[in-house]
Amino acid sequence: MKISVGRLLKEPGAEEAFSFIIEQDVLQHEEFKFLQPVKVQGVLTNAGNEIILKGDIQTRVEGSCSRCLEPVRQDISVDFDEVFALDELPTEDPVIDLSQCAWEYLVVSLPVKLLCSPDCPGLCVHCGKPLKDGACDCQKDQTDPRLAALKDLFK
Ligand SMILES: [Zn+2]
Ligand SMILES: [Zn+2]
Repeated sequence: MKISVGRLLKEPGAEEAFSFIIEQDVLQHEEFKFLQPVKVQGVLTNAGNEIILKGDIQTRVEGSCSRCLEPVRQDISVDFDEVFALDELPTEDPVIDLSQCAWEYLVVSLPVKLLCSPDCPGLCVHCGKPLKDGACDCQKDQTDPRLAALKDLFK
């Protein structure tokens, strides 16, 4: 969504509310699948020599647990704060591309790591099974190296 701010610019102190949706089909991200459209809402305020944007961005994504690779779904809600200097806006028919701006903002706000649970034990390094389902067989067979050292002592 592009918003024309010509009217807003004429009056210091003026405000303009906005709300829009970015549909899932235009949302492309390497690590995350978008389960819902991105909802963006906020208010633009003419603060004299700049326009201040305050709002929020909400959606729901699916990614992979960074330990066990299982799918993880997570609600995303980020504050959307931007400042546009008036001298950076075109004087003729000034427009702000809010969709572009919100998308860039969202991308840097997405979690770097997702975990299916805070204490996800990850995968077994031997067989690759997720350890949260219980210890795998190969783990039971592994002799603890500390015990092995003890065994040597008693030889
Ligand atoms: Zn996990
Ligand atoms: Zn294993």
